[in-house]
Amino acid sequence: MNASVLTARHDSLLIDHAAGNLSAAASFVVDAHLALSPAARQAGSILETAGAVLLEELPPVSLKMPAWLSDGAAAPAAIKAVDPMENLLASLDHGAWRWTLPGMLIKPVGNTGARLLKIEAGRKVPEHGHRGLELTLVLAGELEDATGRYGRGDLCVHDEETEHMPGAVAGAGNCICLIAESAPVRLKGPLGWVVNPFLS
Ligand code: ZN
Repeated sequence: MNASVLTARHDSLLIDHAAGNLSAAASFVVDAHLALSPAARQAGSILETAGAVLLEELPPVSLKMPAWLSDGAAAPAAIKAVDPMENLLASLDHGAWRWTLPGMLIKPVGNTGARLLKIEAGRKVPEHGHRGLELTLVLAGELEDATGRYGRGDLCVHDEETEHMPGAVAGAGNCICLIAESAPVRLKGPLGWVVNPFLS
């Protein structure tokens, strides 16, 4: 997948977000992405301007800090977006992680519908396809798949047309991601034969 396809996918997501077309969980993850990524905020602003010209009914892109990231202070997001992130990372010990696959732990984020996934450094998620939209926002460490390498604040977007085997980059520490999936993933290979019936 080339860079322009990835950019188009990302832009399309921001437009859907601005138009209110995403699920609550996906919208939550995109809000966090916008809060953490100056580049995403810039792209959102450009799309907002373009959308205002092309589609008068397009509502503005929401750039507000999501409540779960906010420490209560109304800080300018562009300057202090990282601070609430530190608070979130510090609070990761609250709530029990649940074992999901070797080297991987998962837990829900309140009632947002989004989940946190912790992947041990150097470990790969089994190869899988998708039954819908999958958003993976990197909070710590680095995530890598065939589409590229993603650091903190970067959003990895996949859907029904894509398959991948994301992994936590060795040497970058454990990778912690915020995930929203519109449907369970479809694991490939022998593991999938066993697990997929339970996921669908
Ligand atoms: Zn995936």
